[in-house]
Amino acid sequence: MLTAEQIIAYQASSELLKDRIILITGAGDGIGKAAALACAEFGANVILAGRTVAKLEAVYDQIIAANGPEPVIYPVDLEGATPEDYDELAVNLDKQFGRLDGLLLNAGILGQRTPLSNYRQDVWDKVIQVNITAQFQMTQALMPILEKSKDASIIFTSSGVGRVGRAFWGAYAVSKFAIEGMMQTWASELDGLGAIRINAINPGGTRTTMRAQAFPAENPNELKTAEDIMPTYLYLLGPDSTGVNGQSINAQNR
Ligand code: NDP
Repeated sequence: MLTAEQIIAYQASSELLKDRIILITGAGDGIGKAAALACAEFGANVILAGRTVAKLEAVYDQIIAANGPEPVIYPVDLEGATPEDYDELAVNLDKQFGRLDGLLLNAGILGQRTPLSNYRQDVWDKVIQVNITAQFQMTQALMPILEKSKDASIIFTSSGVGRVGRAFWGAYAVSKFAIEGMMQTWASELDGLGAIRINAINPGGTRTTMRAQAFPAENPNELKTAEDIMPTYLYLLGPDSTGVNGQSINAQNR
């Protein structure tokens, strides 16, 4: 495995992800959008999953305009989708591609920034549903087609507040701790068994809508962009990280 510094500075070769089938949630905006464009640039067939079709269509158009492999748009709302919907997704992907080589579980929501003692039950339920339950259900349903890949990589999305609890981060922090725990548990179960590895990325403060929502007074120009943090995503999705399993990796060094 590369060192933390080497991963952040990773330089992908031009055909790193050629012919890989990679599904990205939240592919219409922020980090997920940057990941979709980067994966296509390095040769992957990307499945653009998300809830706002117009945003997914814009990413689709950008990939085609850059002569990337034709992506697939798959509308899914992690708040309302059921295990049956994810089973249907698996069947559709199996029919179209016969396997899945990468699964980037990126979509997430912030919820309220408020003390836990004031936290609203309905917001709690929504954050836990989107940020952890849906991630579990989708991953479980897609496991059989990930098993058909000769080198499959699953990436969960963590956060600094998923490692050290901090005031006012509420259900978001709790869900990200749960992500770290689910990643470790699943990675331990998969260890040494087959060709699937599972890791988490902590993007670090990144210039997106969610970050602006969490830190409205911050100057966004002082933050890394989603494009800046792509080396870590590319490293974990490509063959250079084969064998790396159960790690929680920072995409920035600050
Ligand atoms: P954005 O809010 O910019 O993007 C989030 C994406 O998730 C959007 O595409 C959004 O879709 C999608 N999404 C939200 N809810 C749902 C849902 N119910 N069903 C399907 N898709 C949904 O956030 P970021 O890009 O900043 O965050 C991406 C990930 O990185 C998140 O997991 C976040 O927790 C994590 N993260 C981000 C950091 C940062 O500084 N930006 C720091 C640490 C972690 P739509 O556009 O349609 O709303």
